[in-house]
Amino acid sequence: MDCLFCKIINGEIPSKKVYEDELVYAFYDINPQAPVHVLVLPKKHIASADSVNRENSADIAAVFEAIPKIAAACALADGYRVITNVGVHGCQSVKHIHFHLLGGVQLKESFN
Ligand code: 5GP
Ligand code: ZN
Repeated sequence: MDCLFCKIINGEIPSKKVYEDELVYAFYDINPQAPVHVLVLPKKHIASADSVNRENSADIAAVFEAIPKIAAACALADGYRVITNVGVHGCQSVKHIHFHLLGGVQLKESFN
């Protein structure tokens, strides 16, 4: 499958890895929007949050089990934001579900 994030997960395309386990991979965003900007994703190819279902939701649960470990490793004790973009209106550019973990600064309340 021609998916950028599948290629990053399998090492075909290099990334700055932050965390990896059996189900989850996390790496630094190439174009950071905050002092800490990590992308956290399931290794399984799921297109977006709009494709989550009973069959793949354990992979999404694994992402959320990994997030506190990644946040601790990135010294985000004061808090952070987790965002996933979906489709055209959500400005999703890579069609492999990923969660933006943003922090290291006081973020604004606004989402747009
Ligand atoms: P989206 O717009 O789909 O929510 O987020 C995609 C994110 O992937 C963007 O923040 C973008 O900077 C990041 N990105 C795109 N290509 C690469 C890449 O090759 N390497 C890394 N590390 N991040 C990428
Ligand atoms: Zn993929």
